[in-house]
Amino acid sequence: MIAQYLEIKAANPASLLFYRMGDFYELFFDDAETASRALGIALTKRGKHLGQDIPMCGVPIHAAGDYLNKLIRLGHRIAVCEQTEDPAEARKRGGKAVVRREVVRLVTAGTLTEDTLLSATRNNYLAALAEIRSEPLLGVAWVDISTGTFAVTSVDPQLLSSEMARLEPSEIIIADATGPLGAMAAELARSGAVLTPLPPSHFDSAAGEVRLKQHFAVHALEAFGAFSRPELAAAGALLDYVKLTQAGRLPLLEAPRRRTAASHMLIDQASRANLEIARSLSGSRQGSLIDALDLTATPAGARLLAERLAAPLTDASEIDDRLDAVTLFCEDQTLRRDSRAALARAPDIRRPLARLSLGRGGPRDLAAIGVAIARAGEIAQRLGRSQGLAPLPGEIEGARLALAHDLSALALLIERALGDEVPAMARDGGFVREGFDAEIDESRRLRDDSRRVIAGLESRYAEMAALKSLKIKHNNVLGYFIEVSQPNGQKLLAPPLAATFVHRQTMANVMRFTTVELSDLDQRIVRAGEKVLALELQVFSRLVEAVIREGEALEAMASALATIDVAQGLAERAVSGRWCRPKVDSSLNFRIVGGRHPVVEAALRRDGGQSFVPNDCDLSAAPDSAGRHVWLVTGPNMAGKSTFLRQNALIAILAQAGSYVPAEAAHIGIADRLFSRVGAADDLARGRSTFMVEMVETAAILNQAGERSLVILDEIGRGTATFDGLSIAWAAVEHLHDVNRCRALFATHFHELTALSARLPHLANVTVKVKEWQGEVVFLHEVGPGAADRSYGIQVAKLAGLPRPVIARATAILAVLEKSERGRAATVLVDDLPLFAAVASERQVPAGVEVPRPVEERLAAIRADELTPRQALELIYELKALLEA
Ligand code: ATP
Repeated sequence: MIAQYLEIKAANPASLLFYRMGDFYELFFDDAETASRALGIALTKRGKHLGQDIPMCGVPIHAAGDYLNKLIRLGHRIAVCEQTEDPAEARKRGGKAVVRREVVRLVTAGTLTEDTLLSATRNNYLAALAEIRSEPLLGVAWVDISTGTFAVTSVDPQLLSSEMARLEPSEIIIADATGPLGAMAAELARSGAVLTPLPPSHFDSAAGEVRLKQHFAVHALEAFGAFSRPELAAAGALLDYVKLTQAGRLPLLEAPRRRTAASHMLIDQASRANLEIARSLSGSRQGSLIDALDLTATPAGARLLAERLAAPLTDASEIDDRLDAVTLFCEDQTLRRDSRAALARAPDIRRPLARLSLGRGGPRDLAAIGVAIARAGEIAQRLGRSQGLAPLPGEIEGARLALAHDLSALALLIERALGDEVPAMARDGGFVREGFDAEIDESRRLRDDSRRVIAGLESRYAEMAALKSLKIKHNNVLGYFIEVSQPNGQKLLAPPLAATFVHRQTMANVMRFTTVELSDLDQRIVRAGEKVLALELQVFSRLVEAVIREGEALEAMASALATIDVAQGLAERAVSGRWCRPKVDSSLNFRIVGGRHPVVEAALRRDGGQSFVPNDCDLSAAPDSAGRHVWLVTGPNMAGKSTFLRQNALIAILAQAGSYVPAEAAHIGIADRLFSRVGAADDLARGRSTFMVEMVETAAILNQAGERSLVILDEIGRGTATFDGLSIAWAAVEHLHDVNRCRALFATHFHELTALSARLPHLANVTVKVKEWQGEVVFLHEVGPGAADRSYGIQVAKLAGLPRPVIARATAILAVLEKSERGRAATVLVDDLPLFAAVASERQVPAGVEVPRPVEERLAAIRADELTPRQALELIYELKALLEA
């Protein structure tokens, strides 16, 4: 057996080998040590190899999913090696023959199909990167084998990271891990993807073309798009790798869609993270834009919505098509309600389909497909009724046609064949409905009759042996047996009962017996059971074949359901949140009336406190070049500057993704790139300080933003000395205005910058207003024309709970600073500032800030219980002196 193990392991050196033995997957040698450390399971020994103990550890198959999950998340790959023949067959070959085993699958992060290992609401992409010398662009292909999505594109190496940030692949395959592309891929892998290098021969573009043609059974690929050589290389390598990991099988895949980089809004990794589009900064979905947006009723709908939100479109008519679909469901409330209800009961079939096509599906996957077909029929009919009233928008009409494809024969077959409660695994049996197959029914009857006879035997034997406690039991090792207590067992061992009862086992407290009749019945049950299972597995294969035959129509049905789900979900969001349909065109407008931040608004509503204050924004760059397309946003801390910046970026993303937007009205000229620099953390792992990260991101914006870009910049230059920061911010605003000429929002606490509006014709000053009331600031969160002259930082610090003496001291320092010329040497400042005690007197503190008097502070510091009478007396003199000082 170890020889067999070593042979298989040698063929899969880069994977942990899960070697099937009975009900366990066992790992040996180094694999065992790695897995036991990673999984926290016991390391044991078994036998010897070359005179050394063989380390071993194992996981039970029923719990293997959890262990696989953990290992994959740690970046391991697993080769699953199963027994591929019946042990009885091996025995026939000779006493010592080892059961044949083969690797049936390599489990890698990018090739998962199990629901338990995947998020229902996100795609799991495997991506391939290919470069071909003399070709300037890289080929990128990606596939989700659990849903069949397959696409390719070409990208400029500079934009690769943005492209990958959109896809967030969990695994990236690449030819040469050492070259420049390898370095780029390694950088990408830092965000969590596994990097898998393959021999360069896998990336041959001519071979890739042949592979694609073969797989999709076409003579030419033109029907799918004009693929470039790097694209063919990437797509070909991907197919090859999928086949390798699936041990020669390929799942149902859509024909590859060719995407062009220009077809969607480019958003780089940092902006995606900072704007919290797919997940919040803490990494969870909660608090992200998608979380606030997603009211889809199915996982497939949620995945499509996430995909759309990750790649907002840049073509106005495509956006309009999506918006038309949303409008339909906004306006027809009953259609929306009916569709939601039907969708909510429609199982996700993309992943069941993938599993069935890879030979690892089960009866539940079949049942899901049957139910989904029925729901699809209901929705098609319902849409048909709406269509009678007015033509449906193109996207929905396309979906209706896909749903109208008649799959009722398949649904009927599945319904007739499968029982109501079916197991996940076909090998568990018991899923074929009674009445579907006469032979199965007959064998089941035989089996059940024998069981009934056995049930009758128990009382007969009890009576015969005069032992009321005699029981007939069953386990997997012995089959059916008779069990009595130890002392009673002696009775059965003695004549005359010994003639009937045959001893089988003695346990600590009980003895087990059988009889000729019982073992006969047991055999009959086993044989009938085996026959039933074999027949059921035949039915299962027939059903799987029937499903695969309709694979394409089922894929189309799944896509159609997802499309309808996205449209109805967005409509539900729009109606319940009072969102509006944006006008999206190719102008350079950006005019938002009453815009809101969907996540902050929802959070405020949940807290039940203040409601969100809507704000307008107009960055329109008018053709006569009169528009003020750069807005300088000033305002106190906590006033809502960042919220305002982000909400406008999010509104642009939502609109171009084809959603309604949280505003009263919106007119958006397509943005081809979105840049945002809002808040940064340091990236010490890459040797970058906070300020360095900020500057790198700012540099990217100033170097790359064009007329069609939308830029939001929050507090540039805060991480360095005041004058350095102010100078950088100043120059950045000028550059945005004069060179980039993009639509931009720039929030700052450098109030000096507001003076620029006098010189820069396209710059507008706006401020987020606050009111001062009885010495406190009241945040109005209203954005209006004008400039702030103070930041109220100290008031905010006070709200945050800074110690009172620190607030008092800061207030005094501020007063001195404001009087003096800014920037004088710190030493001068220190000389100018009075000592603490003096600062803390009321004279020096501006109105509104409560500062404790020295006498009060001394009083507060007294520990009365610890004073001696003499100290107390001295204290009274001291306090009196303080009062009079
Ligand atoms: P800082 O300069 O300190 O970074 P800021 O001006 O960027 O502050 P935000 O972080 O945008 O302020 O907002 C602070 C808080 O104010 C938010 O968490 C939110 O609760 C509230 N807020 C912001 N905008 C609004 C609004 N339009 N309506 C109601 N509440 C708002």
